[in-house]
Amino acid sequence: MSRVQFRGEPCSHLSSLCDTVGVRLSDWDVLIIGAGVSGLSAFRALSRAGLRVACLEARERIGGRIETIHDPASPVPIELGAEFIHGRAAEIWDLVNLRHLTVYDCEEHAVHWAGGRFQRGEDSWEKISGILDEIKLRAGTKQDRTFASFLDQSPYPQNLRQWVTSYVEGFNAARADVVGIASLAEDARAADKIDGGHSFRILNGYDAVPAALIDGIEHIEKTLRLCSVVETIQWEPGSARIHVRSTLTGERYVMQARRVILTVPLGVLQAGPDENGAIRFDPEPAEVLRAARELQFGQVFRLVLRFQHAFWEERPELAKAGFLLSQEPMFPTWWTTLPVHSPILTGWSAGPHADELAGKSRVEIVRQSLSTLRNITGLTPAMLEAAYFHNWSSDPFSRGAYSYVPAGALPAREKLAGPVGDTLYFAGEATNLDGYSATVHGAIASGTRAARQVLQQR
Ligand SMILES: Cc1cc2nc3c(=O)[nH]c(=O)nc-3n(C[C@H](O)[C@H](O)[C@H](O)COP(=O)(O)OP(=O)(O)OC[C@H]3O[C@@H](n4cnc5c(N)ncnc54)[C@H](O)[C@@H]3O)c2cc1C
Repeated sequence: MSRVQFRGEPCSHLSSLCDTVGVRLSDWDVLIIGAGVSGLSAFRALSRAGLRVACLEARERIGGRIETIHDPASPVPIELGAEFIHGRAAEIWDLVNLRHLTVYDCEEHAVHWAGGRFQRGEDSWEKISGILDEIKLRAGTKQDRTFASFLDQSPYPQNLRQWVTSYVEGFNAARADVVGIASLAEDARAADKIDGGHSFRILNGYDAVPAALIDGIEHIEKTLRLCSVVETIQWEPGSARIHVRSTLTGERYVMQARRVILTVPLGVLQAGPDENGAIRFDPEPAEVLRAARELQFGQVFRLVLRFQHAFWEERPELAKAGFLLSQEPMFPTWWTTLPVHSPILTGWSAGPHADELAGKSRVEIVRQSLSTLRNITGLTPAMLEAAYFHNWSSDPFSRGAYSYVPAGALPAREKLAGPVGDTLYFAGEATNLDGYSATVHGAIASGTRAARQVLQQR
């Protein structure tokens, strides 16, 4: 655990950063907006480099799209945001080793429910990865096209197209008729470099990763400011005034710095100026905001259900399944916690499947998920003990799940990552240029990159 407990213990002790750390408001070298893993990795790098740096976070906790519930009634931590470590990226594994976290391989055995029966997932998976390999070979950035149009011109049978579409839409939280194959190919090549097809979970809970990032940062109690919504950034080269609202006291105040690193999600950058959570700029970094609008922010509904017992194990076909895949309109994808045995199932509805759930109440979403489970297991679910859910789409500080790149829009990602006037710097998963956007390790790498950009300008 971190030295500091941030969850549920918000920032009431921070009445004024100016008073508490004994520096003038204008003395900040860098202000970081957002305490997700990208903001925290920039915070860590710049603090270590000796800069006077503070981090402003709208929520009352760190971690952003990593949110772990440690429910004593649950045998494992409940993840509402990121759950899997995809591959062996150093950004995460260095922290895992440093903090001696317990990580285990996920059970990858998948079962497909189709045509009223279960099929082994491995056969279809081989075909799906064959199609993704073809994309890796054929996709070029110059003549990008959507995944749907690529499939339309392919010789693959209809049912295989359906499965591969579900996979691409589910994994990328994207629409097949929007996402470009150039970025899919770039991401797949990058994943190959880190054994990205291999997934792991952190037994301690994913929130151990943001906790590891702040460990050892000096004066953290004073320089990390929670419950602080950034509303406006007024800037000129070499100087920025950040207008902040405290959600704790309602107080508004201004902080000043020579540079700002923005790590807010793409959905927040895309929001209209008067929407809750949105940031107004004066003047607007027009090229960056245009680039943000060219990209897409995918939607996901992710629901964790804890039952009295693991009822699906009554069916021998499901007893060893890591994943249960179907073509159901809502919650087509489910996974268990195997190899750790628990009575917990996670349902996943992404891309167009998420549209089906938008606007529904929590109760309706749970009811829908149970009826889907009944359809695809052929069993009556055991008594539900708890349902855990965070609506990332309606959360003003995320406005969705993670980014993806429409056909032809790959250059926009580069523009989003470019510094503006040596004063505004952008980080966050959507700005990752190495093929690791939409992931935790990609977000961490983007924060380190933004910190490097700042240090190069010193
Ligand atoms: C449901 C879901 C499942 C996922 N599963 C996985 C997975 O299994 N594996 C994986 O690698 N990745 C996964 N991801 C993606 C991963 O969680 C993100 O890529 C990563 O956490 C993003 O980190 P970030 O720092 O870029 O953004 P964030 O974590 O979103 O951090 C940005 C911070 O900015 C703050 N903020 C926003 N607006 C303001 C404002 N106006 N003022 C102040 N602060 C503000 C936010 O509160 C937030 O804390 C998942 C994401 C979701 C939503």
